[in-house]
Amino acid sequence: MGKSLSFDIAALLILTILIVSCILRKMTSGTQNRLFLVFTSFTWLATVFDIWAVALDNANSTNLPALYAAHCGYLIIHNFTVPLYALFVISLTDTWHKIRKSFWIRFALCMPYLVLFATLVTNPLTNKMFTVDSGYQRGEWFSLIYAVIAVYMIFVLGYVIYYRELLEFSKTLIFLSYMPIGLIAVMIQMLYPTMLVEMYGGAIGLLLISIGVQRPEQIIDSDTQFLKYSAYANAMKRNYRNGKNVDVVMLNLGNFSSVHAMMGYDFAMLVLEDVVEQIRRINRLLGNKGEVYYLDRGRFRIVFNERHHDRAVKAADMLVESLKEKMDFNDLDITRQPFVVLARCPEEITDFKMLMTFGTDFHEKLKYERRVMHVEDIFHKDLVQIHSNIDKIIEEALEFKRFQVYYQPIYSVEKGRFVSAEALLRLFDPTYGFISPEIIVTAAEKSGAIHRIGDYVLEEVCRFISSSEFRALGVEYIEVNLSVAQCMRGNLADNVLGIMARYRVPTEAINLEITETAASASHMQEILEENLRKLEQAGVSFSLDDYGTGYSNIKRVIQMPVKIIKLDKSFVDDQHNPKMRVVLKNTVAMLKDINMEIVVEGIETQEMLDFFTELKCDFIQGYFFSKPLPKPEFIRFLEVRA
Ligand code: C2E
Ligand code: MG
Ligand code: MG
Repeated sequence: MGKSLSFDIAALLILTILIVSCILRKMTSGTQNRLFLVFTSFTWLATVFDIWAVALDNANSTNLPALYAAHCGYLIIHNFTVPLYALFVISLTDTWHKIRKSFWIRFALCMPYLVLFATLVTNPLTNKMFTVDSGYQRGEWFSLIYAVIAVYMIFVLGYVIYYRELLEFSKTLIFLSYMPIGLIAVMIQMLYPTMLVEMYGGAIGLLLISIGVQRPEQIIDSDTQFLKYSAYANAMKRNYRNGKNVDVVMLNLGNFSSVHAMMGYDFAMLVLEDVVEQIRRINRLLGNKGEVYYLDRGRFRIVFNERHHDRAVKAADMLVESLKEKMDFNDLDITRQPFVVLARCPEEITDFKMLMTFGTDFHEKLKYERRVMHVEDIFHKDLVQIHSNIDKIIEEALEFKRFQVYYQPIYSVEKGRFVSAEALLRLFDPTYGFISPEIIVTAAEKSGAIHRIGDYVLEEVCRFISSSEFRALGVEYIEVNLSVAQCMRGNLADNVLGIMARYRVPTEAINLEITETAASASHMQEILEENLRKLEQAGVSFSLDDYGTGYSNIKRVIQMPVKIIKLDKSFVDDQHNPKMRVVLKNTVAMLKDINMEIVVEGIETQEMLDFFTELKCDFIQGYFFSKPLPKPEFIRFLEVRA
């Protein structure tokens, strides 16, 4: 009885659809996509040869060259998909750089197939693999094929186990399912030789990989057709884990968010489209060696393998060149402010977390300079180190009691003496030296250590206030900073009052500084209000810190039970600007009209002091009087001036 071709034809249909859909879904660039396409195309070709061979067999053809060509072609092509499958696992783990490094691994990967290839090509002379003289018959060496397949499958399984950390569980499972599906198909074909389901099994396996592993919609951004944020994060995480060195060209469009906010979505998309076009053009000129990602809000990344370092440098230069010019969009001149940073990872940015935080907002922290910037321009190497080790630094500082509290005197204009001080956290790390409290507080808020640090500062302050030396200084109260995370904690009020009671500190002796950010995090408003109310009832007063830096929400200022407003240094610094002088004058007047007391922060010169004293600000804090001082020096400072 002749063999049925129905399964082969069905396989051919599925494979054709897969190939067409790869092209339609634009999945033709990137190693993994290309590999999948090659894999599917070879399976398609093998199916064609299988159909040809079976058709000849069914017709009892005696055309020996045709029979040899068809069967040999089928076996050579079909078995070539086995090493391709093995290469696919390398792509999934993105470990090509490891394979590239070792000649022997590459040799071992090619060898089994090359042996099989040689045996098949010479088969017409040896007849060891199969014979076609009296119908197709397997030869005595035919099991070599199974041996070669087994070698590659063992490689794949070993690779998956070894690099399991780099793989996503569900994708790996689907990828591996190709093997049992193939095995079942082979077994069915052994039991029922007329049912040719082998190619059909292969096609189903590829269909599963296409649906479950190659999911472009999951990783491709629909606005730009570049890979998405999650794809970038995954790829970079993997690079750090498996020691792959890459150059990352980071492009943040400085004013994309404001263009979007002011001109609307459609216009922002026009700007975006133009940038996308430029990036495509540049990458094309550089041989498409960069993997391009679009994160969001005008932030792009182009990742180059370190082998293409020169191209990365060129790409960064070309980006600045092509985007720095003003563009005419719908008769509007738009500057795009391309902030471009070229970073070598992991050399310059040592860990993944650092890379992601660094990339979020460097364009907000830097001045726009129309040139490519480097990590070292922006980031102190030490700072990079500190950022990546900050959790450990904080834990050790808590464990070995390395934190200290410094005090910066605050001068009362009315009383003509120092009436209070701000408590400021200090850390001198044995490895990194002084670490800014802003870095510590930001990191500690994320890790949760902020509550222990906050307790430490408050206890230290309370201990000081309850001491006899404090009473002699004439200081009325100490200002203690509360971070946003502390304000949002349900038990803040009880905790603060508990510590103060333990040291018998009267509630008027503490003033808590909160920031506008805390005050405006509306989702936690209730907890914050409850905390403030409880503390206020107990007699604790509040200052609103950093006034003038955020979007000073006047309504909140009025609603909150704050007694003091602290004008931020950045607001105060600008007093030479005539417009700013008017704003400052009126701000101070307005705040005084609603009975707020005002502290001016960051006063460094006599001139600044005079300006704000004239405006009738109540308190002055700044280097003009003193930097923050360790407790003994603070005591001495006040004693001398008493
Ligand atoms: P802040 O609360 O606004 O503190 C004022 C900052 O301005 C302090 O920086 C102080 O040293 C600095 N400063 C004061 N006068 C001058 C001046 O004349 N010129 C200049 N250039 N700077 C001046 P510092 O100590 O580095 O603290 C930075 C921020 O870290 C603080 O800003 C506060 O937000 C936070 N912080 C400090 N200690 C603590 C703490 O114990 N807990 C919490 N949650 N945050 C803290
Ligand atoms: Mg403060
Ligand atoms: Mg402040």
